[in-house]
Amino acid sequence: MTVPTDVNYTSQLTKEIIHSLAKEYPFVSVSSIGKSVMGNDIYALKCGYGEKKVFFNAAHHANEWITTPLLLKFMHSYMSAYDDNTYICGIDAKELFMNTTLVCVPLVNPDGVDLVNGALDESSPFYQKAKSISAKYDHIPFPRGWKANIDGVDLNLNYPAGWGNAKKIKKEKGIDSNAPRDYVGTSPLCAPESRALYDLTVASGFCLTLSYHTQGKVIYWKYLDFLPQNSYEIAETLSKASGYAIEVTPSESGFAGYKDWFISHYNLPGYTIEAGEGESPLPKEQFDTIYEANEPLLVSALNLA
Ligand SMILES: [Zn+2]
Repeated sequence: MTVPTDVNYTSQLTKEIIHSLAKEYPFVSVSSIGKSVMGNDIYALKCGYGEKKVFFNAAHHANEWITTPLLLKFMHSYMSAYDDNTYICGIDAKELFMNTTLVCVPLVNPDGVDLVNGALDESSPFYQKAKSISAKYDHIPFPRGWKANIDGVDLNLNYPAGWGNAKKIKKEKGIDSNAPRDYVGTSPLCAPESRALYDLTVASGFCLTLSYHTQGKVIYWKYLDFLPQNSYEIAETLSKASGYAIEVTPSESGFAGYKDWFISHYNLPGYTIEAGEGESPLPKEQFDTIYEANEPLLVSALNLA
């Protein structure tokens, strides 16, 4: 099989690829960790036999969907390297498999990605609701500027880590109800998609997490004054592997994200990777460059854990 990288992704295509991967590589398991607002499954792939559990996720934000094929292509490369008893970025895939267990959720926000990429029928009540939410924000192009879940909740502002601060900051910027982006929701974890990631994380015992977003070619590593052991050193290694810069999250988006919650709840290293550069959604033509920078980063994360 191959993972297509020159098409606009949808939840259906993602599902098909996930199942093809599992069919081709029986050592990979697939599970649904919950359902989106529209009832789409949110899938997790799991492989490896190590005690150390690492978690990669992508596409919390709808118009950052290019991160979904990024993780799917990585999973394919990693699994085929293991299957062929070979190396990935100079590291023995078998060794990585023996030392770590990798859990990967390549598409956190399936409904939002379907909206952005035209897979949602315009007659659907979900599409209509999104369109009417969007009408209040005429500076945000619809649907390509949509980041939220289909209900207009920003999934990466919906975690219990300074959620009240995020709410206040966004309200001051005029966002206090469902919106294409930046609406924190009515309470932490009110969105089924962020709840699914939270529940998976609580049940899993991850020691390191990477959340993929676009754009900026930066690695966000910090939440408030938390300093999990080795968190800066790991960021440095990820930075060296990818050429991406290490930065502190801008304070206006410094709360209620997945990594913020992971760092503060567990005091363990969690990172947001802002892949690529330009305006989201990034053009498909940028995929190869993004992949080239991030395959070594992903391997490093597994190797370091
Ligand atoms: Zn994002």
